[in-house]
Amino acid sequence: MFTDQGKDNDTIELSRDVSLAPFTSFQVGGPARLFTTVRTLEQLKQALSFARREEVPFLIVGGGSNLLVSDRGFDGIAIRLLLKGIRVEGRRIEAQAGVDLMAVVEHAAHWGLGGIERLAGIPGLFGGAVRGNAGAYGSCIGDVIETVHALRADTLELVTLTRDACQFQYRNSRFKREHGLVVVAAGMLLEPGDPEEILRRGEETVRKRQARQLQCDLSAGSFFMNPVVGDPELIRRFETEQGTRCRDGRIPAGWLIDQARLRSLRVGGAMVSPRHANYLINTGNASAKEIVSLAGMVKARVLASLGVQLEEEVSCIGFTEAAPPPS
Ligand SMILES: Cc1cc2nc3c(=O)[nH]c(=O)nc-3n(C[C@H](O)[C@H](O)[C@H](O)COP(=O)(O)OP(=O)(O)OC[C@H]3O[C@@H](n4cnc5c(N)ncnc54)[C@H](O)[C@@H]3O)c2cc1C
Repeated sequence: MFTDQGKDNDTIELSRDVSLAPFTSFQVGGPARLFTTVRTLEQLKQALSFARREEVPFLIVGGGSNLLVSDRGFDGIAIRLLLKGIRVEGRRIEAQAGVDLMAVVEHAAHWGLGGIERLAGIPGLFGGAVRGNAGAYGSCIGDVIETVHALRADTLELVTLTRDACQFQYRNSRFKREHGLVVVAAGMLLEPGDPEEILRRGEETVRKRQARQLQCDLSAGSFFMNPVVGDPELIRRFETEQGTRCRDGRIPAGWLIDQARLRSLRVGGAMVSPRHANYLINTGNASAKEIVSLAGMVKARVLASLGVQLEEEVSCIGFTEAAPPPS
């Protein structure tokens, strides 16, 4: 586990009414009543202890690439988590939550460690990736996690959880279900290999993603999770049309949204991406309300036309209606 450095300088600074829009990939959302950036474990403890003492809710902000904040903002303390340590020991890489996921992937390749190169190009920070079990092209971060160090917000106790205890599932984990468990760092056990080859696979993944031309839009990636579908006729249609088997009974939400003919649907400045139907995008001047209304419309129409209930992958914060509660 990493030890804190610079303890003399560990007092947190709180700012008032800080707009959260610049900290999210949607670039929308109102202010946090209080805002602080933490760079050490000690600072994170201070921020969480402040929240508990003052009885205000807290929101961890990582890379903001899976976050939709309401126009009214967040009535609590937003904690930007920027703990940046990373180290390698044999086949094991341990990184703190604030390291860019891409930097972790590059670091692993540099040291000839493979297993996460298919995650190259996923935006955001390592802690956010662990919390949401981020993944792409058949790999996800939970597959290689050995242990996660997390801070309990109520007791400020640092706990170490094995991979089993983290309960990783498709875009889900214990940290997503237990808001009071903040990911501080995690260790991964990777496969030794040729650094050049691992780097090549990482670069190939990035090129594949760039070819989809989705990285420049203001979005949070896939807005909905791929749902488990029970209707055998729908599964047959998907498999015939796409020439591929559906994995674990899940059908891509984007395909379902396409079937409901919702590509390019707009609410104000929010639009279902013309390039990828599971990407809801801010075309430049969208409000959070417009994005969440569009999401509600997509859910209602997919349910009405195909009988499938979509569920948000994106964390929606500060909404009281037409959106899920903060997770
Ligand atoms: C263009 C684009 C493409 C994308 N492609 C993919 C993809 O291929 N696969 C994929 O899985 N995702 C994808 N995403 C979504 C996103 O990049 C991932 O979900 C990412 O892992 C989120 O990390 P973050 O640091 O940005 O989290 P944030 O957006 O900052 O936070 C998301 C949620 O996690 C919580 N959180 C963040 N850090 C912590 C922590 N340390 N401890 C506890 N809770 C925390 C936050 O409070 C919030 O509720 C994409 C997004 C974009 C914009």
